[in-house]
Amino acid sequence: MKSAIIIRYCEIHLKGKNRGYFEKMLKENIKNSLKEFDFTFTTMHSRYLIEDYNEFDYELIAEKLHKIAGVHTFSKALVVENDFDKIFDAVSFLCKDKEGTFKVITNRADKTFSPSSMETSMLIGGKLLSLYGDKISVDVKNPSFSVYIDIREDGKTFVYTDVIPCLSGMPVGSAGKGLLLISGGIDSPVAGYMTCKRGMKLNCLHFHSFPYTGEAAKEKVIDLTKKVGEYNGGINLFVVSFTHIQEAIHENCPEEFMITIMRRFMMRIAERLAKQQGDQAIITGESLGQVASQTIESITSSNSVVTMPVLRPLIAFDKLDIIDIAKKIDTYDTSILPYEDCCTVFLPKYPAIKPNLEKVIKAESKLDIEGLIEQAFKNVEKYTF
Ligand code: ATP
Ligand code: MG
Repeated sequence: MKSAIIIRYCEIHLKGKNRGYFEKMLKENIKNSLKEFDFTFTTMHSRYLIEDYNEFDYELIAEKLHKIAGVHTFSKALVVENDFDKIFDAVSFLCKDKEGTFKVITNRADKTFSPSSMETSMLIGGKLLSLYGDKISVDVKNPSFSVYIDIREDGKTFVYTDVIPCLSGMPVGSAGKGLLLISGGIDSPVAGYMTCKRGMKLNCLHFHSFPYTGEAAKEKVIDLTKKVGEYNGGINLFVVSFTHIQEAIHENCPEEFMITIMRRFMMRIAERLAKQQGDQAIITGESLGQVASQTIESITSSNSVVTMPVLRPLIAFDKLDIIDIAKKIDTYDTSILPYEDCCTVFLPKYPAIKPNLEKVIKAESKLDIEGLIEQAFKNVEKYTF
């Protein structure tokens, strides 16, 4: 008996005339993500089908499918001819270790197949009971598992019991491009994951403060970027040296505005880099009120130096909810490794919690803003994962 993987999408169904655009993009993303495997790929009525793959690759393929935005569910099915006895053989094989209550759901596109859908469900259910009646019983309202029989017009029947939920969301690339400001913390990788799950293709930017922050801190960000990249179909990371900017602020501006002014520089550099490569938005891991730099006054201050949209997917999330997602996407353990971030260097004892924009602009005017930014652009490292 051969097996196949049926892949389903969800929100794309809601699209109107441009639905084909999203379907094509998801198809390309799936094929691209599975390019190391041998298989045949077909589209069938709003679903995709993977056949002729090596059974040994199944677990790896399943792992990849879990990370493709736009994939709603998938099922591993047995494929048999449209023949009642063969269908029952497949059903009995799939149910041999099952326990609890079940129902059979038959979908018969091949109208030449007899008996009807309803009768097939009843007959298969009855035969299944006589075979495994000591372990399973019928409950059509609230079964613990379902047996799906999909009898198709092309002569193939798919039989499966499990519908495995995946990421959902929209295909990466269907919602433009953005630049994620990634730190070594918990929040920004989660913000990145959530944004690419909605279809935005990401690049990443990290500010590094060598020698105040060391190689290990950079490696940590590289590891986090790679994790985000698994959902993004690969990813670029730009690392910009920020030390000279922090030193200039430290030497010339009031201590209470250290973080506020730093964040304004980060945003300016991010916008410039984003424009250079066609990114349409900046994404951060900010969450309202989480720290001094994330009050509405601080956000107003950092937002006011850019015109590009700044997306903050976590703005209304509680920290515990963010941690749950970080654990789910396996970034949490890396994020909590105790390395310095550039934001912890020169950290003032009493940062301004509600910075006054006029005072910030005045304090900042002592700096050669353009010169400092230009210098930062002289030293950009690019990594592709
Ligand atoms: P995170 O957990 O993402 O580090 P945080 O709670 O530590 O966030 P902040 O340090 O105030 O918060 O940073 C807010 C956001 O600014 C981060 O989510 C990230 O998007 C960006 N950011 C902070 N530090 C850096 C950095 N070194 N490089 C790039 N972006 C940064
Ligand atoms: Mg941080």
